[in-house]
Amino acid sequence: MARYHDANCKLCRREGEKLFLKGARCLTDKCALERRQYPPGQHGRNIRRKVSSYGVQLREKQKIRRSYGVLEKQFRNYFKKADSRTGITGELLLQLLEIRLDNLVYRLGFAPSRKSARQLVRHRHILVDGRIVDIPSYSVKPNQIIRVKDKSKNLDLIHGALKAGRGDDFAWLRLNKASLEGELLEVPKRLDIPVTYNEQLVVELYSK
Ligand code: SF4
Repeated sequence: MARYHDANCKLCRREGEKLFLKGARCLTDKCALERRQYPPGQHGRNIRRKVSSYGVQLREKQKIRRSYGVLEKQFRNYFKKADSRTGITGELLLQLLEIRLDNLVYRLGFAPSRKSARQLVRHRHILVDGRIVDIPSYSVKPNQIIRVKDKSKNLDLIHGALKAGRGDDFAWLRLNKASLEGELLEVPKRLDIPVTYNEQLVVELYSK
């Protein structure tokens, strides 16, 4: 499957905002955005453009898409799915992204970033309801149990990430650190999703 292979930090610099794509490094002064607060490229320092409303909507969409590590076509499919459901489209879109297996492995604290979480899933370290699931985009349903495979429980990456303690932060998740097991208790409501993006701009962009 196609993936983004260029430097992650360029994405943050392009958006002018931390997207937290590299785990612990993002919280240190090694973060590229701390050191170079301008867009990447030869003319990055000199770009001074007036941004149109379309540009604002596009940038917000790119921020959300990139932070969840989803490619354009897949992101648009999530939007179509959200748009076809009853409810607030922007909130439904974020909910669809939040219940992806790779995102939940990250939220539970089993991986330092969504990219690492995706790798854990792809490399068959993660079970859902006792069965290996190696599809990062798998949509987890409430009450399903996400568990690290027994043979993978000693992975340094997982224990290093767990020290950050993120899995305890969410009322809609249950985490058992001892058994490396978590559960999606319910699909999170917008207020419980810890992102500050303006998803309504994406709705406006795709509704043109
Ligand atoms: Fe973004 Fe993290 Fe790179 Fe900083 S270190 S620019 S937050 S990916």
